Amino acid sequence: MSTETDPALTGRTVEVLQAMIRNACVNDGTAASGQEVRNVAVLEDVLDGLDAVQYEPVPGRRSLLTTVEGTDPSAPTVLLLGHLDVVPVSRDEWREDPFGGDLIDGEVWGRGAVDMLNLTSSMAIAVHHLATRARRPRATVKFLGVADEEAGGSLGAEWIVEHAWPDVACDYVLTESGGIPVDGAQGRAIVFATAEKGIGWRRLTVKGTPGHGSMPYGADNALVTAAEVIQRLTAYEPAPTLSAHWRAWVAHLDVPPELKAALVDPGRIHEAFAELPPRTARYAHACTHTTISPNVVQGGSKMNVIPDAVHIDLDIRTLPGVGGAEVDAMLTEALGDLIASVTIVPGEVSRAASASAADTPLFDLLRRRAQAVHPGTEVLPWMTVGGTDAAFFRRRGIPSYGAGMYSAAVPLETFQSRYHGHDERIDVESLALSTQLWLDLVDGL
Ligand SMILES: [Zn+2]
Repeated sequence: MSTETDPALTGRTVEVLQAMIRNACVNDGTAASGQEVRNVAVLEDVLDGLDAVQYEPVPGRRSLLTTVEGTDPSAPTVLLLGHLDVVPVSRDEWREDPFGGDLIDGEVWGRGAVDMLNLTSSMAIAVHHLATRARRPRATVKFLGVADEEAGGSLGAEWIVEHAWPDVACDYVLTESGGIPVDGAQGRAIVFATAEKGIGWRRLTVKGTPGHGSMPYGADNALVTAAEVIQRLTAYEPAPTLSAHWRAWVAHLDVPPELKAALVDPGRIHEAFAELPPRTARYAHACTHTTISPNVVQGGSKMNVIPDAVHIDLDIRTLPGVGGAEVDAMLTEALGDLIASVTIVPGEVSRAASASAADTPLFDLLRRRAQAVHPGTEVLPWMTVGGTDAAFFRRRGIPSYGAGMYSAAVPLETFQSRYHGHDERIDVESLALSTQLWLDLVDGL
């Protein structure tokens, strides 16, 4: 497998990425935001007359699918899945214009440069190349650019999987969260996501008794109870789950042997987190626990009224095997006697954790490609602790992997700091490597 990339294709990937960043398809969670129809227009330009199907469950929230038929009907079909939306920015915190798409010192700047317009643009260029070059691929490749990934996918990938499954049916899915270098004790490893946590949002409503704010003595104030509820949730430490993903990760970590031993010891793991760098510790905790984060509180109505109801929205991320009943049992355990003052209802988003086996021909190709680009590296199946559109395909039994190919300039720490962070940017070499990756994978199947 060669490590050559094609400068002409890379140049076009850069231009497409810049155009999509400048469209600022910011998804703030409301149905009217995003307006990915603008990035679909960019894709239509790139695909230049190739047949495409479009989906638009609500106005402006458009997705696009194109298919390049392979020459061999017995070869597998691979779906390249890229989202078209981005998350909001804190503009004042950026060194450069987050929607400028400027190319500065070999890096393209802007929201979406690593999540994941970089990959979506490289997929579009690769698919157009496969469709228009002299030699048709043996395997069929589908490219799906989707709206709404950043708000859970109900107006994008999830909608399409539910309403147009035959269009997107395939043998493999490749999407974001992979091909990322991690430098550790045994040298460099490259991680590809084969699993992700589930989402089990909950809304707690804390009840109290209304009264006059001028006489708080002995009051049953829902806000005061809610504060205690939040304290208990924060202090709650369920037993860790030490999965095969976790053990492989620890084996690779660049930390002293004693700390490694503690990280796979359920009795010592919480103390061990404190010894890790903060970013590593956050991932380590999330990778081994179903997490509960109280993120939105609404309560009280008027300055002189003691509140009788407070809502607390919990972002709960579940490990494999943890369903709704287990989540509610955890909350009950965490709250103790306060459970009597609280009602619990499921939030808007709920999906099970998902995983794909790594013993497939496609994962093998990913491994070989990663080792060609980064010689001497180990390739690790990896669990992402956030959610991606891969979940909708894994639910249908389709092996789905986080992929892409990042240069040594974007190790995992850097990747994670830019992901939904300030000063998001990507080096042109990573764009070249990702564009080439899709070509090599399709040709290798
Ligand atoms: Zn993303």
